Amino acid sequence: MTRGYTESIARLMDLLGRMPGIGERTAERLAYHVLRSSDQEALALADAIREVKHRVRQCSTCHQFAETDPCPVCSDPRRDRSVLCVVEDARDVVSIEQTGGYRGLYHVLCGRLAPLDGIEPEDLTVRSLRTRVAGGEVKEVIVATDPDMEGEATALYVRQALEGTGVRVTRPARGLPSGSRLEYADSAVLTDALTGRREMPR
Ligand code: ZN
Repeated sequence: MTRGYTESIARLMDLLGRMPGIGERTAERLAYHVLRSSDQEALALADAIREVKHRVRQCSTCHQFAETDPCPVCSDPRRDRSVLCVVEDARDVVSIEQTGGYRGLYHVLCGRLAPLDGIEPEDLTVRSLRTRVAGGEVKEVIVATDPDMEGEATALYVRQALEGTGVRVTRPARGLPSGSRLEYADSAVLTDALTGRREMPR
């Protein structure tokens, strides 16, 4: 892949090509776009990457990305502290926040059970979820993992991990197309699914 490119162009292409969904061709196109951009535009991109890595951290309570710890949701006194919505990924928090209909708190698992990819229960933030629930303030945990095979397996694991805590464990209603990803769900569909949530069977 490096033949014919200068060393620094090849390096940029290599780094771009490691991003999800970016193949060699796209990496080349992006690298040449950067080359043709003004210095100002290209360096603004470099600065944005530096700044996001410098400023954004994980909230130590809910594990979503934020520039403050605790994050704005965890520190908002108007949020309902008796409900926790468990999601796989920080992007799912954004999707649910964009519906504007959810007033509880979140807990980001930072992944999903995927033994084939080497992702085991201890890689998820389930222990810290248990600790939060044990605090006694939480009455309901909505397990909003993706409605696909690994998401369902992860939901079952979370329910088992919460057994004996006395907390109500619910799952969003069907309506989210099975096999779909929460982060791509339509706002109205997501709101309906959360509103129509049901207790998970034991
Ligand atoms: Zn938080």
